[in-house]
Amino acid sequence: MRLRAFGLILLAATLFAACSSSLEGSSTPPASTSNGLRVLAAETFLADIAQNVAGDRLNVESLLRPNVDPHEFQPTPQDAIKIAESRMLIVNGLGYETWLTKEFQNNGSQHLVLVASEGLSPNPDPSGEHPDGDPHMWMNPLNVIHYVENIRDGLSEIDPAGKDVYAANADAYISKLKDLDLWVKNEVAQVPPEKRLLVTNHDALGYFAQAYHFKIVGAVIPSVTTEASPSAQQLAALIDTIKSSNAPAIFLNVGENQKLAQQIASESGAKVITDLYVESISAPDGPAPTYIDLIKHDAAVIADALK
Ligand SMILES: [Zn+2]
Repeated sequence: MRLRAFGLILLAATLFAACSSSLEGSSTPPASTSNGLRVLAAETFLADIAQNVAGDRLNVESLLRPNVDPHEFQPTPQDAIKIAESRMLIVNGLGYETWLTKEFQNNGSQHLVLVASEGLSPNPDPSGEHPDGDPHMWMNPLNVIHYVENIRDGLSEIDPAGKDVYAANADAYISKLKDLDLWVKNEVAQVPPEKRLLVTNHDALGYFAQAYHFKIVGAVIPSVTTEASPSAQQLAALIDTIKSSNAPAIFLNVGENQKLAQQIASESGAKVITDLYVESISAPDGPAPTYIDLIKHDAAVIADALK
């Protein structure tokens, strides 16, 4: 079943039947909302985006916690219960939530799955391995306008009385996203065009590069996920490419394994930057506690390293 083929899908969640009865008592109680609707977003940045649309009307909870790598996430039985008890689950789509198709297609309680990227045209995966394309579409804030419109429509479907509130909140947030796009353009303007070269740990910045005129020189893991591993030949080729392009830095997300990047850096002369936030926002007291902060933080880190 291809989730991205549908905007809103009635999906039945597997309840891990064998263990649900013993764990039901320990699941967290539903978040208190004025109208009792429980909305979950898979990733932290999606929960933040959706919360901006929901405003005070609904509480949007994130399934993943900050700094968990969504590429390697596997839901626990408690997560499965949380999903089954939610009225709506918001996902990025495009194969980003590999766990969703594996675990949640069987019978259980009915809820809506909203695919935030639905309707956007993804870029192909540079490695050609992932038929759904590159899922990291939120790294261009203008793509997120579309996410917001999908979330607005989804929330209005499960809570029709809130339609006007969601529409007004979406408009206000879309205007912030347009400002964010201009902010990034201004921030990266300090990097001369010939220095706009990105080497990343995995292929996560394709949309950022496209939107703000950077060139992707290569990736330590030449894939749109963090699960693959490069061959010795691929690593040697990347070192050559970094040397010949003079790319000054290799950018890693917080928490990504630095070992290979450090090895490549020592042989190519590039420095390793380890504090991008791409797949997760930070904890509230960290440098990227919201989606907008995430984009600003990354743009500033990239501009600083390359200018
Ligand atoms: Zn990724």
